[in-house]
Amino acid sequence: MAGKSRSLSLEGFTFEESWEEKRKRAEKIVEILMKTHPREKLLIGDPYRTLVHCIISQRMRDEVTYRVWEELFEKYRDIETIANTPVDEMREFLRKRGVGLWKTKGEWIVEASRIILEKYGGRVPDDINELMKLPGIGRKCANIVLAYGFGRQAIPVDTHVNRISKRLGLAPPRVPPEKVEEYLMELIPRDKWIYVNHAMVDHGRSICKPIRPKCESCPLKELCPYAKGLVRDEDIR
Ligand code: SF4
Repeated sequence: MAGKSRSLSLEGFTFEESWEEKRKRAEKIVEILMKTHPREKLLIGDPYRTLVHCIISQRMRDEVTYRVWEELFEKYRDIETIANTPVDEMREFLRKRGVGLWKTKGEWIVEASRIILEKYGGRVPDDINELMKLPGIGRKCANIVLAYGFGRQAIPVDTHVNRISKRLGLAPPRVPPEKVEEYLMELIPRDKWIYVNHAMVDHGRSICKPIRPKCESCPLKELCPYAKGLVRDEDIR
């Protein structure tokens, strides 16, 4: 039966639904999300630049991240230059631009670049386990590099994806993000995985906000257990 292969369970959900029903609902949800938040072109580009972007972005607003990331590559250009930059200089570059955790991130950016050059011949590895060995790269960033850097089917689970998946009852409200990823992979067809992150992030910013989601005007409300009072924010971790 579906779900058993990944040792996922229906226990922990706050409402009754079979795997089959959940899968059908998930497919409709993704379809509507993709129509509501279309993107003509997904950000599929350079894995290395995507990786550096992800390190800078941790606990940062998007606009600031993007500006600093652009400036960083204007100044340093490529992986060789960054790998040869003293850690303190990189830290100073980030600190001056208001990047939080600048000490750690400065070290991560330089160290990760050195490792990619020395161990992987300058090519970012396209394997989640290898990516997660790099400093500053957790599961979410590794999946972002795979999805947006390499264009692979992957589901990065950030704060928006975590919250919305749980409100929509696609993952139990109390499981950690890596488990949310497993539930989504189980419920959503593989060829749609790459769309889930960007569509849920857009949805989380515009409609399903952390506080006071706009359920009344949400195109998913008929499919959403939160809108029916079956999932509550107090239950969600
Ligand atoms: S109906 Fe409400 S809780 Fe459900 S996805 Fe839409 S905004 Fe979020």
